[in-house]
Amino acid sequence: DHLVNQIAAGEVVERPASALKEMLENSLDAGAGKISVDLAQGGIKLIRVTDNGSGIAPDDLPLALDRHATSKIHSLSDLESVATLGFRGEGLASVASVSRLTLTSRPQDSAHAHQIVAIDGTLHPVEPAAHPEGTSVEVVDLYFNTPARRKFLKSEATEYAHCSATFERIALAHPHVEFLLRHNGKVVQRLPAQTLAERIGAILGRDFVDAALTVDAEAAGLTLRGLVASPTYSKASRDAQYFYVNGRFVRDKLAQHAIRQAFRDVLHHERHPCYALFLTLPPEGVDVNVHPTKIEVRFRESQAIHQFVFHGVNKVLANTVA
Ligand code: ADP
Ligand code: MG
Repeated sequence: DHLVNQIAAGEVVERPASALKEMLENSLDAGAGKISVDLAQGGIKLIRVTDNGSGIAPDDLPLALDRHATSKIHSLSDLESVATLGFRGEGLASVASVSRLTLTSRPQDSAHAHQIVAIDGTLHPVEPAAHPEGTSVEVVDLYFNTPARRKFLKSEATEYAHCSATFERIALAHPHVEFLLRHNGKVVQRLPAQTLAERIGAILGRDFVDAALTVDAEAAGLTLRGLVASPTYSKASRDAQYFYVNGRFVRDKLAQHAIRQAFRDVLHHERHPCYALFLTLPPEGVDVNVHPTKIEVRFRESQAIHQFVFHGVNKVLANTVA
């Protein structure tokens, strides 16, 4: 069973950034208004995520590290929405099976904090601890017990770059949450609670926001909102492309194609446009379980989505050129 856990973990926890993503999503699910991330050596040595969310009761601490245990399914109808959102209750258990993990938490309005340590997937007894209201998850020495996997990790700098990208993708979609990122003890990003435009500015650059065009389209249960570079904005880099479906960052060929085509239609030349766009649609219209790390999606009506995204972007570009 231990081996099975470690193999399954490889699917979910591809690298430090994948563990960080699971941890950040848990903090957001817990309603945190403030989230701090500490990394050491690109996340290989340490990933610590501290939040001021709802917390976990002492009795529930072992459950949080149990495979298939999730506090997020309460009824059959929940099960349906959970299926579409991709909650599996495997995130923390997977991380715990390939690291030394410490989970410390104090529920809101509770006077006491407790913690549980999992080493190599084995749980130690719950003990009293010191912690403000909220939760800290500390992941030390990722893959210390699976040297073959550890060998596949890239340099510290590369793993750090993946962690930083994950952090920024999530922070961009949650502007009202305060975020802090430290690497090797140094603060690398401090994001106060702010508006979406301010958050986009903090991550993609103020000059992008100042020159950007606002997309705001709505039709038949679909919305597309955000900013795209104006046709004259020249600093657009390949990396400055953020696309979200129902609040989650995705890399989607269909959307990328629709946006590129919207630009080409107006500008008549190939380029990689810069954008931060948020698409929403009813959850049953999209399957997010295509990939274990949930970065790819499949739309039920892909043609309709392509057209909607194309027109939403094309319209604002055409207005400025006309
Ligand atoms: P899932 O998020 O799919 O439920 P996880 O393995 O990621 O599964 O987490 C297991 C459980 O641990 C969650 O359902 C939640 O109850 C609890 N949990 C994990 N992280 C936090 C956190 N930061 N704050 C509050 N509860 C948490
Ligand atoms: Mg989770």
